[in-house]
Amino acid sequence: MSNKTNKNIYAVFGNPIYHSKSPDIHNFFYKLYNLNCNYIAINASKNFFLNEISLFFKNGGKGVNITLPFKEKIFPICDIITDRAKIAGAINTLKLYNKKFILGDNTDGIGFLSDLLQNNLIKKKNDILIIGAGGASRGIIYPLLKFGCNIFITNRTFEKAKFLMKEFKKFGNIKCIKIKNLKSNKFHLIVNATSAEIKNDLPLIPSNIIKKKTICYDMFYRNKDTNFMKFCKKYKSKKVYNGIGMLVNQAAHSFFIWNKIFPDIKKTLFFLKNKIN
Ligand code: NDP
Repeated sequence: MSNKTNKNIYAVFGNPIYHSKSPDIHNFFYKLYNLNCNYIAINASKNFFLNEISLFFKNGGKGVNITLPFKEKIFPICDIITDRAKIAGAINTLKLYNKKFILGDNTDGIGFLSDLLQNNLIKKKNDILIIGAGGASRGIIYPLLKFGCNIFITNRTFEKAKFLMKEFKKFGNIKCIKIKNLKSNKFHLIVNATSAEIKNDLPLIPSNIIKKKTICYDMFYRNKDTNFMKFCKKYKSKKVYNGIGMLVNQAAHSFFIWNKIFPDIKKTLFFLKNKIN
């Protein structure tokens, strides 16, 4: 697909999609590297999204990102699926090969790990607490285990944390832990992978697991501190982050899959500063 100026067209499919920052990020990448491309947001139909994505590729679309609520439902249209997408059980990037084969990949987990590495927030053998057992947690567990960290997972609905632990234990050291049993543990990094912030809430974790040196990371992002970030700062953590870096890095890894260029993260973060609510 190309428009009147013969630009290569890429798109993100989601529903709703108005909030997506992916067009801002990718169009910034194109500008940065002088590429004749355009990236658009498509509000996909909840019943016909697979047909719509196929049509996008038939019309010449070069690559696609997938966001909520479709990430787990894209497998049927893929001809090739990467291991990391299979393990995450979700696809966020599609690439058309030889004009007919669709590759499905997932860059969320590697995007998260890249952000941690760029900011010096992680070392092998670190003990990491993940709060939440939804799609976001599922995406980050494998890269963290593969990197060599020990994962502790907790969730409001404990059974879901237990389920993830059973699924991922073949990849490394992962334990599930009830919220009420958290106090005795010492974590290098605590990740809020819940969606509590959407309802202006925060996960109820004991404050004494947060120390001065504990790194606290909220996968959610907004232009001011989230409730979880405020809580961690209140209990004296000196290293508190939000998920903007993850967002930009997952986009950068998708961009790399399509263009074989890894974009400048710092410049993109600077550009995005005024675009996050
Ligand atoms: P899901 O809906 O799949 O999972 C939600 C999780 O949050 C569940 O574990 C749920 O617990 C928990 N939860 C929700 N509300 C509360 C609450 N009030 N207190 C405690 N736990 C709660 O969502 P995702 O996993 O897809 O997304 C999670 C977060 O990650 C979102 O904030 C999302 O914006 C963010 N995200 C950020 C990305 C980035 O690039 N920065 C990328 C992807 C996601 P229970 O099982 O008990 O219901």
